[in-house]
Amino acid sequence: MTGSPIWHPFTQHGLNEPVPLVTHAEGAALHTADGRRIVDGISSWWVTTHGHCHPRIMAAIAEQTTKLDQIIFAGWTHEPAETLARGLTAMMPPALTRVFFSDSGSTSVEVALKMALGFWANRGEHRGRILVMEHSYHGDTIGAMSVGARGVFNQAYAPLLFDVGTLPFPAAGAEQATLDALEAACREAPAALIVEPLILGAGGMLIYVARVLSEMRAICARHGVLFIADEVMTGWGRTGTLLACEQADVVPDILCLSKGLTGGAVPLAVTMASGAIYAAHLSDDRAKMFFHSSSYTANPIACAAANANLAIWREEPVAARIADLAARQAARLESIAKLPNVRNARALGTITALDLVDERGAGYLSQLGPQLLAHFREQDLLLRPLGNTVYVMPPYCIDDADLDRLYDGIASAIERT
Ligand SMILES: *Cc1c(COP(=O)(O)O)cnc(C)c1O
Repeated sequence: MTGSPIWHPFTQHGLNEPVPLVTHAEGAALHTADGRRIVDGISSWWVTTHGHCHPRIMAAIAEQTTKLDQIIFAGWTHEPAETLARGLTAMMPPALTRVFFSDSGSTSVEVALKMALGFWANRGEHRGRILVMEHSYHGDTIGAMSVGARGVFNQAYAPLLFDVGTLPFPAAGAEQATLDALEAACREAPAALIVEPLILGAGGMLIYVARVLSEMRAICARHGVLFIADEVMTGWGRTGTLLACEQADVVPDILCLSKGLTGGAVPLAVTMASGAIYAAHLSDDRAKMFFHSSSYTANPIACAAANANLAIWREEPVAARIADLAARQAARLESIAKLPNVRNARALGTITALDLVDERGAGYLSQLGPQLLAHFREQDLLLRPLGNTVYVMPPYCIDDADLDRLYDGIASAIERT
């Protein structure tokens, strides 16, 4: 711990908070070098779907390492990527006919934004403005930060961020204001709208109704504004269905997937696009090609892990497991929702969340956050509140005993606040 040269993400090293050393994991459990067993209540930051070190995914990775490690993907291809692209087009909405690979959720968003602007530029219409929803999060690279909420996280980088049009969050009872703002913004011919479907993750697990999602999609379609769904967190069953968009009967023009794409085992992302987006880049003119790549685009080992994830989805009762987890969590949430200081207990699919009343003020830097974090650490729980919002988003394989530990830990934290 001390003396490590590592500079950790989203960590203030000046506070000298402990940084546990994790040695191995299985299912919903993490094991530390000092012999503790930690319950992973946030799926290792929303990535682990079926569980840590899932045997089918680990075996697929091991097998691929004996065949092909890495190959340039511009002008070359390989079987794991071909299989994955076919698998994704078969599983995702049929209108999304093209699969572009990258390596993180942020990059999949950068790719989506570039595809949207490339679409308009190649058609000779110079539309450049992006519409976004208040409180959104789309990643930490410059473009992804630009389309996300502004705050303490990106204040220092503001000079690099581009201007966007922001729609108010469609809070219960205020949905029409969002739709009216979108309708008005669409008259100014923006390039695209990017949204997190049904739930805003980093913004505080803020849930909005499916009807707003389908109406936003319809307004964009009516005005010819491209609709980008960032399902980096919501994809792969998180919200109860394979994609959150399904619950609103929405098919986006561009879809971003990462996190659970490999079951959360190794980094990989895809940006899926409609035939029209692809067609706008298709030409005998090299200047119209899609100008994007990164070194590890469609890394074969990552693609093999993703193929194992798709096989699990095709062959195992994943949807039933998710429904069961949702029901088991709902019962536990109900009991802590009644505790004093708890507001807005809410659930969507495998995610539950609640807000704690904090007289000292809400927000990401609320003092409550570090106190809760310390409490959860003492209880051997991996939970990471977003300011005064406590949420649970476990791997789908978590058992009742570990769920009890999470919810009991939250209850005792609430009692101490
Ligand atoms: C996590 C997240 C991202 C960024 O993904 P990274 O892999 O961390 O770059 C983008 N969008 C949403 C909705 C996310 O939750």
